[in-house]
Amino acid sequence: MLLTVELRDQTVLVAGAAAAAARSIRRYQAAGATVRTLNAPGGFLPRMLEGVALVTVVDDAGAMVDAGEDGGRWATVRSECRKRGILVTRDEPAAPSGSVTLAGGGPGSDDLLTVRALAALADADVVFHDRLAPWSHLEELAGGAELVNVGKSPGHHPVSQADIEHQMVAAARAGQNVVRLKGGDPFVFGRGGEEVAACTAAGIPVTVVPGVTSAVSVPAAAGIPATCRGVSHMFTVISGHAPLTDDEHQHLAGLGGTIVVLMGVGTLPQLAAGLRKAGMRADTPVAVVESGYSHAQRTTVSDLAGIVTAAGTAGCAPPAVLVIGDVVRQGRDWQQHLPGPPGTPEPRWTHE
Ligand code: SAH
Repeated sequence: MLLTVELRDQTVLVAGAAAAAARSIRRYQAAGATVRTLNAPGGFLPRMLEGVALVTVVDDAGAMVDAGEDGGRWATVRSECRKRGILVTRDEPAAPSGSVTLAGGGPGSDDLLTVRALAALADADVVFHDRLAPWSHLEELAGGAELVNVGKSPGHHPVSQADIEHQMVAAARAGQNVVRLKGGDPFVFGRGGEEVAACTAAGIPVTVVPGVTSAVSVPAAAGIPATCRGVSHMFTVISGHAPLTDDEHQHLAGLGGTIVVLMGVGTLPQLAAGLRKAGMRADTPVAVVESGYSHAQRTTVSDLAGIVTAAGTAGCAPPAVLVIGDVVRQGRDWQQHLPGPPGTPEPRWTHE
C-alpha cells in the first residue's frame, strides 16, 4: 500500500547514521517538514519525540532484519513511539557510492511512465531531464531531487551531449543517485548508448529502464496499429533527422510493411518524393500524428502523393510521428467505431 502523507510544517525525527540518513533528511526537508536527527541509539532521549509526527529509522539491511519484534538497535525509540502513538517508518540507507539510471519517460504523459521509472525517480537525488513539458509532475514524482533541465526549450540553450555525460558522471562520483530521464525509450534515437558508455568508461554503475517509445505509442494514440494481421506484419522505424539517400529510399520502399518516422516533419518532402521515385504506390496511406498524448494531439491523413500538401496546409509541426502504410487506413476505420482510450483527446482527422 502506498500512502502519501502531508508533512508540511510537521516535525519528523530521522534516526540513523549521518551518511545513511542524508537522503531521507533531504526529502523530508523538501516536503516542507522540520527534521530532527538522531545519529545513534545511545543518544536517544524520550523528550526528542515531543511534537514529532513521524519517526523514520534509516538503517542497513542487516540491522533491519535484526529489528524483528524488539525493534533491533532502535528498540527504545520504537517502543517509546508505540506508547505515544507516533508512526514509525523505515527507509533504505543512501548508497555509499552513486549510480546512474537511464530511464525512459514515455511519450509525455505521466501515466505512461513505467512503474520502474517511477521507482527510480522516487529514489533520485538528481534528475537530468530533457525538458520539463511532458513531465509536468516531475517535482512530485522525484520528491526532493534536484531537477536539471539539459534539453531544448524556448530561451534555454541545450547542454551539449559531452557536458550532460560529464555532469551525470560527476554527480554519481559525488555519491548521488542520478536519474537521466529521456523521452520515450532511452535506446530509440535517444543517445542512450553513448550515455551508458560514458558511465561504464568512468566506472559508474549504470542501469537502463526501458520506456514506452513514441514509435509505437504515438501512432496508437491516433488508433493506428504498427502491425495488423493481414495488413502489415512488420514495421521499420527510421529517423528523419537527415534526408535519406536514394539507396535507402530504395531499400525502404522494397521492405513492405509499416514505416514509422521519428523527427521526420522537416524532411517529409524529401521522404515522400524519394519513396515515390523508388516505386512506392502513390495511394499508400500516410499519417502525421503530432503531439501525441497531449491536448494538442492531432492526426493529419493523406496518401503518399498528397501528404506534403496536406501537412503544409494543416501546418504540421514537431514533435510528430509519421506512419506510412496500409495500417493507417485500418486505424482510421477503427477510429470511426471506437472511442479513444480514457484521457486521450479525440483525434482530429484533417484530410481525406
Ligand atoms: N527516444 C524517443 C525518441 C526521441 S527522438 C522515443 O523512444 O520515443 C524525438 C522524436 O520522437 C520527435 O521528433 C518525434 O518524432 C517523436 N516523439 C516523441 N514524443 C512524441 C509525442 N508525444 N508526439 C509525437 N511525436 C513524439
